[in-house]
Amino acid sequence: MEINLQKQIKCDNCQGSGCKPGTNKKTCTSCNGQGEVRQTRNMGFASFVTAAPCPTCRGQGSMIETPCSNCKGQGRVKGTKKVDFQIPPGIDTGDYIVSNEGNEIPDGINGDLVIRVNIQPHTHFKRDGKDIFYDRDISMVDAALGCELMVPTLHGEEKIKIDSGSQPNTIIKLKGKGVSHINSRGTGDQYVRVVVNIPKKLNKHQKNLLNEFKDTTD
Ligand SMILES: [Zn+2]
Ligand SMILES: [Zn+2]
Repeated sequence: MEINLQKQIKCDNCQGSGCKPGTNKKTCTSCNGQGEVRQTRNMGFASFVTAAPCPTCRGQGSMIETPCSNCKGQGRVKGTKKVDFQIPPGIDTGDYIVSNEGNEIPDGINGDLVIRVNIQPHTHFKRDGKDIFYDRDISMVDAALGCELMVPTLHGEEKIKIDSGSQPNTIIKLKGKGVSHINSRGTGDQYVRVVVNIPKKLNKHQKNLLNEFKDTTD
């Protein structure tokens, strides 16, 4: 997947140095490039040496003489970058994907990009862990007589057989047609629930046929 991510990116103008192109950092004169200042205090018989980061160069030991006009000497600017990442199969809501595509730190380690995954509900499939649940409508005639039909799975269409005399809410298991999981072996299954539709309206002919059927079973 690819997203456009707003983040701090290295300044192209100065290659992250913060210096105007053609110029360099100069050694801090307050600390002679040491990055820290030492103070010696005499307390009677003892003398204490304390070291603190140099306030002039903020501990860097060098200073930007002429800042880059593009990043004002920061070495990085706010920008948008196309970021590519892989979604491993079997990922679930609440899982995280971490890559090193966070804010860019010139002369340092880039920050992390942490993506929290939120799985959107599917119109036909429901998921529970590794297993997939799917409702398939059939007519009461198909339930009574039996039939063969195709159902969608995550792995393509599968043929299922409805036995004659199938009852409403019969579950048919399609082994291995679920989701493969990142942290465990094996693949889940798909469960097809057979939903038997009773017609809400019948025409006269159909009514007669069903009455005829009724007479044979009375
Ligand atoms: Zn710059
Ligand atoms: Zn300094």
